[in-house]
Amino acid sequence: MNNKTTPMMEQYLNIKNKHKNALLFYRMGDFYELFFEDAIVASKALDITLTKRGKTNGMDIPMCGVPFHSADNYLPKLIKKGFNVAVCEQTETIEEAKSNLKKGPLKREVVRIISPGTLTEDNLLDRNANNFLGAISDVNGSISISWVDVSTGCFKSRNLQKENNQKQLLTNLLLRMNFSEILVSDAMESNIISEEWHSIIKKQSSSLFHYSSCLQQICSYFSIMSLEGIGKFSDGEVIAAGVLLSYLKLTQCGKLPILSMIQNQSENNFLEIDYFTQKSLEILSNLSGETNGSLISSLDETKTAGGARLLKQRITEPFYKVVEIEKRYNLINWFLNNDIDIFKLQNNLVNTPDIERSLSRISLLRGSPKDLSILCNGLLNVKQIYETLISFKDRLNQAPLLNNILNQISVDYSLFENIKNSLKKDLPLSTKEGGFIRDGYDENLDKLRNFRNNELEEITKLQNKYSDLTSVNSLKIKYNRMLGYHIEVRAVHDKSLRDKDIFIHRQTTAQTSRFTTIELNEAENQLINSYDKSISIEMDIFKNFTNQIINEGKKILDIASAISELDIGIMVVNQSKDRGYVCPKILENKTLEIIEGRHPVVETQMKLSENSFISNDCILNKDDFLWLITGPNMAGKSTYLRQNALIVIMAQAGLFVPAKEANIGVCDKIFSRVGASDDLAKGQSTFMIEMIETSLILNTASEKSLVILDEIGRGTATFDGLAIAWSVLDYLHNKIKPRTLFATHYHELTSLKKDLNHLSCHKMSIKEWNNSIIFMHKIIEGEADKSYGIHVAQLAGLPFEVIKKATQLLSKLENNKDNSYLKKSDNLDDNYSNINENQIFFKEFDNINVDDISAREALDILYKLKLLR
Ligand code: ATP
Repeated sequence: MNNKTTPMMEQYLNIKNKHKNALLFYRMGDFYELFFEDAIVASKALDITLTKRGKTNGMDIPMCGVPFHSADNYLPKLIKKGFNVAVCEQTETIEEAKSNLKKGPLKREVVRIISPGTLTEDNLLDRNANNFLGAISDVNGSISISWVDVSTGCFKSRNLQKENNQKQLLTNLLLRMNFSEILVSDAMESNIISEEWHSIIKKQSSSLFHYSSCLQQICSYFSIMSLEGIGKFSDGEVIAAGVLLSYLKLTQCGKLPILSMIQNQSENNFLEIDYFTQKSLEILSNLSGETNGSLISSLDETKTAGGARLLKQRITEPFYKVVEIEKRYNLINWFLNNDIDIFKLQNNLVNTPDIERSLSRISLLRGSPKDLSILCNGLLNVKQIYETLISFKDRLNQAPLLNNILNQISVDYSLFENIKNSLKKDLPLSTKEGGFIRDGYDENLDKLRNFRNNELEEITKLQNKYSDLTSVNSLKIKYNRMLGYHIEVRAVHDKSLRDKDIFIHRQTTAQTSRFTTIELNEAENQLINSYDKSISIEMDIFKNFTNQIINEGKKILDIASAISELDIGIMVVNQSKDRGYVCPKILENKTLEIIEGRHPVVETQMKLSENSFISNDCILNKDDFLWLITGPNMAGKSTYLRQNALIVIMAQAGLFVPAKEANIGVCDKIFSRVGASDDLAKGQSTFMIEMIETSLILNTASEKSLVILDEIGRGTATFDGLAIAWSVLDYLHNKIKPRTLFATHYHELTSLKKDLNHLSCHKMSIKEWNNSIIFMHKIIEGEADKSYGIHVAQLAGLPFEVIKKATQLLSKLENNKDNSYLKKSDNLDDNYSNINENQIFFKEFDNINVDDISAREALDILYKLKLLR
């Protein structure tokens, strides 16, 4: 048995030992190879062939591989499945190894560990979403979280107060941030984090979660002595941020991306939107998990990737501070009031590429000439935006945020101009082969290029000379990777060259003979030499540019964030003009006064089908803060409830809203429970979820919150449901006192208005017409008397027999308020039921177009008619 490990395998094992938590992509020639367990796992995940190479301890070594040039097709699959991939490259050339008289395999090193939370490549990232890596620390029961987006430089932290509902706040935050990867200490209790995120947790050694070493990491990264000047950070935030920086160092193999100064966010600066609310209001995705039909998909008309990412952040974490909200309104109003033509600005925004992501690749020395060009062109677009804005300078003091934006983009653009002017139009994806610096930019480079061109001409001359000398007209000088430049003739002319001393034979194949000459060799050496030299000059220029960009990194991040803010502002200017969105008034009281409000998503969808949305008012205040809403199914209750919640979210996100007028007392939290569904995966029933969600509201809402409750208690038996809904209403009204919209089918609840002074009853109006009802989708004062559920069931196409029976039962139920019918047989009074049956039939009958029906259908109708008589 051969137990001997080959030198190459020994090298592999040494490297793998240092990267146990990642799949090791080990570069061999033109392939990345994976061995042992990595090969088994990756071949399954990528659906590629598992083979073997050599043996160890008498056993085959499993192996699989992917071509290096198509690694980009395979990596996303592994990363999406949550794996980390350590990319191990050959870091010395054969020539270097030879000159060092080294034996054994060429030197290889892991140059980067790719993990879901540290991606920078555009093809692996969603343009409109941040890609957050988070770290969570637990210091004596106080939870803190820090997060970073390597691809945009965003770096933030938050401490979750121990006394607040920490676990829930953490769950809310995890949902909002949509983390790709979360780092926790291996000593942390796993139940702190909801199960939903367990698959993306990467446990780290608890020794990393050490305050002073983490503080040291942060101070050294930002080159500062202490954190005091930056903000007030809890110990936990320092630890979480330090752990992130160590992880970045590890995964980027020593290189660190450019990050904005860590920003500590206080919980109280934001409108808290909890997990269930974000889902039920369909803020980022609809109830089926698709973006279509969500608030973001209907609102997002930003022009830049950075703007789209910021908008997403804004609507998941709107402001709570009135001044922040008003700053945004102020900017939008400035454009509107000054009647500024935004067309030019918008054009510049459209042409502004993803500055943040190009910068991140450049800062990690992963940038290409294309990245340089994207970044510089983007920044030169910003320069034009600057020039437009500066022309309004004298009027900008009315809009402080716009002034800030102007200051942030007021930089010296000459570096970016210089870089742009140095680059060719068509750029290669990598620096390796050179050819990206424009002719005329560098004298030495031009000289070498001229020389190369002359040498190429020289070679052409040699070809003519050798052809004359040998009288072989078809003689050619060709190039291949094996032989370099060589003379090629058809095999029949072999002798003509062999007879002459100057030709040195290199190779003969069935068809051709190949030769060289000392002259040709010299010309080739000169060529290679000049080629290498020119690449090295281009590389030096590239490195120099990269370093200068990195030096300006923080400024460029500021520019990018200013442009994102401007992008959103201009988007709203447009929405004000095109969609009729208005500027809300934000107050510090308990008002929620929305006049002629519309649902931003339903309205857009209805416009597409050329229907018009019916606007509705909502007028809550400290005296009348609880609206009990009744109305038939399909009357528009849920739409109404959600539209008011969405309008508040939009308003606090600094956006204009779909209404004629909106006066909104700022909300600290928003809760929305609309039609819970079973979470079978978690083993929770509809009713259980409904109650968990309701309990969260009753335990965390405050007088400053907005609560939207739709059909609480519907998931259980009628009386239990009614009793629960009743007492929840009572509790909200008497104890918490938040502004509340409460929709229900329990009409019995309307009697509460006698006892609850701050409750008023409203209903969705309908019109009864021709034995049918018409939904007016209009909210009016009053109480609905019935649900018209059977009518909706009929619209939905339930079989005639079922509708008939249901109508009979309903009449019975309504006539037996003591419910004794439940015990009796359901043999219904035929005379009574006939009335309803007739009604249903004749309603259908009215709708029949006699010219459109078949003979068979006509016959069926006749039979039915006969039955009813
Ligand atoms: P249910 O009690 O059965 O849940 P609902 O009263 O909550 O019904 P919604 O689901 O809000 O009713 O609305 C039903 C349909 O009516 C929606 O699909 C929407 O297309 C339409 N609708 C709702 N509100 C309006 C409105 N204001 N203007 C026009 N159409 C509307």
